[in-house]
Amino acid sequence: MSTTPIPYKIYLDENEMPTAWYNLRADMKNKPAPLLNPQTLQPMTAQELEPVFCRELIDQELDDTNAFIPIPEEIRDFYKMYRPAPLIRAYCLEKKLGTPAKIYYKFEGNNTSGSHKLNSAIAQAYYAKKQGLTGVTTETGAGQWGTALSMACSYFDLDCNVYMVKCSYEQKPFRREVMRTYGATVTASPSMDTQVGRKILAAHPGTTGSLGCAISEAVEAASCKPGYRYVLGSVLNQVMLHQSVIGLETKAALDKYNVKADIIIGCAGGGSNLGGLIAPFMGQKLRGEADYRIIAVEPASCPSFTRGTYAYDYCDTGMVCPLSKMYTLGSGFIPAANHAGGLRYHGMNATLSQLYADGLMEAVSVKQTEVFEAAEYFARIEGILPAPESSHAIKVALDEAIRCKETGEEKTIVFGLTGTGYFDMYAYEKFHDGKMEDYAPTDEEIAKGLSGLPTV
Ligand SMILES: *Cc1c(COP(=O)(O)O)cnc(C)c1O
Repeated sequence: MSTTPIPYKIYLDENEMPTAWYNLRADMKNKPAPLLNPQTLQPMTAQELEPVFCRELIDQELDDTNAFIPIPEEIRDFYKMYRPAPLIRAYCLEKKLGTPAKIYYKFEGNNTSGSHKLNSAIAQAYYAKKQGLTGVTTETGAGQWGTALSMACSYFDLDCNVYMVKCSYEQKPFRREVMRTYGATVTASPSMDTQVGRKILAAHPGTTGSLGCAISEAVEAASCKPGYRYVLGSVLNQVMLHQSVIGLETKAALDKYNVKADIIIGCAGGGSNLGGLIAPFMGQKLRGEADYRIIAVEPASCPSFTRGTYAYDYCDTGMVCPLSKMYTLGSGFIPAANHAGGLRYHGMNATLSQLYADGLMEAVSVKQTEVFEAAEYFARIEGILPAPESSHAIKVALDEAIRCKETGEEKTIVFGLTGTGYFDMYAYEKFHDGKMEDYAPTDEEIAKGLSGLPTV
């Protein structure tokens, strides 16, 4: 072991930053199941995906064999403006906890959009521009993805149309204004702009919308306007591929100081940040070079891994997207209100789903109030105000560190701190006022969601 003291922040030099994304699927013996065409139930072909997605992104989506995909220079240059993200040794937290565990976190909140989502947004905008497109459409729930995409599109001079779930549009006016500052058009969904929006509004006047509905509107808008494509901020394998930059940097930083992680923890919404963080470590595990405990953390109100089923399902409520084999609660499952908007998705990335089915990783679900307790504890010691989503990982990292204190084990814990919580103060307010509630779906509600699974 190296005797060099480990700094509070491990930064990489620019020339140590990754030059290729790592495609974990290349090292998997059991490949994730292919996307299926919802009409024919046959694997989706590149041609079938072309009207909706960008060409090079389709190639990445369908690529199960190439382990390394070079990061184009234009994207690497953009990354250099806000990366490498620091890997922080939580010395202060360790001391406060009195744990022999060594705790590290990879902080992805150092950019204006405030989360890891910019890593994929800039890649997706780049390929859209390269293809000569005019613009892209997308949906946003909590608003982080829409913000990241607006930044990426303004950089490459692309038009960006964001369908924002109406209740967020009204509750988070500042997120909306950040998007408009970067030149995006933000429409409250459901809207009168699309056929599907008008239909939903006619059936449910006064509805405040849902993510599933916003997806359907964004997909329709992209397919009706020449020169536009639809882009997505998580769930897809291409997004997880771009997010591998998180794990590659983390591993390079640990290797620089000869540190070997024991436990790697991340929150799981659609799975892209966790998949990106663990990618190179899981690769070693698959190749038999090293072993790690890998833990996905999800909200008790939306427990795809821990209470869902591994089956083909629709990725959206409108059932227009391809079918994906994943851990799911059913595309009709409406999670109870939860302040970690980025984790309210009924399904999970297909690659992570296969790894979980093969017993290569663990998952736990945690309650909202204990997540905010952990968030506040962390903020008061480490200074960073964490996003509610990220705080799911903090909660489990604290639990593991406390367990080490009890057993005297000197484990090395690494967790992903995906973003900052400045736009989530309404949620923090509820927590401080004692008005935050813990919801968990009943077995009946889960069964009802799963009863709508397609037969494949
Ligand atoms: C979107 C988001 C998540 C969820 O990420 P996935 O890649 O979908 O699992 C976590 N944290 C923050 C801060 C987010 O914005």
